Amino acid sequence: MNKYKTVLIFGAPGSGKGTQGSILGLIPGFFHFSSGEMFRNIDIHSDLGKAFYEYSSRGELVPDELTLQLCMQAINAHTVLGDYKPRVDLLILDGIPRTLRQAELLDEHLDVLKIIHLYCDNEEAMFERLRKRALKENRIDDADEKVIRRRWEVYERDTYPLLKYYPVQKIANVNSIGSPGKVLARILDYVVPIQDALFSGD
Ligand code: ADP
Repeated sequence: MNKYKTVLIFGAPGSGKGTQGSILGLIPGFFHFSSGEMFRNIDIHSDLGKAFYEYSSRGELVPDELTLQLCMQAINAHTVLGDYKPRVDLLILDGIPRTLRQAELLDEHLDVLKIIHLYCDNEEAMFERLRKRALKENRIDDADEKVIRRRWEVYERDTYPLLKYYPVQKIANVNSIGSPGKVLARILDYVVPIQDALFSGD
């Protein structure tokens, strides 16, 4: 099986992964998939939706195996629908992997070419983004200060160490502070050459 050519957008809650991923997804040749968005789209009244609510409202992660299974099902479904064409599109993943186990499981399906690490040396600036998002998007996991702090802890404990799993030359450290356009320009410097090199023959 051919593995999906992938770039990971990696960063703390509030680092702008979703914003940047969505913009990239509008450019031909990129397909954006967000695990958080997928979870939020599940019917909240279904068993799965209720389980997601349980975890996310506490700032906790959904269990690894379930997360992987759902994400791969959804990504595969996009290939069937034809909005993601692995032969010509670079997959931009945002929000996954978030644990070492997820990274290992994903390796069976993905060829990870680059990790865009959106970093921010100003923790308060990220919290401020999350508070604003809570108001704008009505997200329960951003609304409560305690939950925000918990998500930050989970990021530092389970997700951040994951950077060591990938070879250092695959990691691009991108400053996440700045206007969306400015941050996008920094990311494009890395991802456009990858896309050109991979798919220029098509
Ligand atoms: P943020 O943009 O703040 O990082 P996301 O939208 O990516 O948040 O995710 C929202 C919630 O969805 C998470 O707090 C978690 O409960 C769940 N979730 C998303 N992605 C994953 C994942 N890869 N593994 C486990 N849980 C996840």
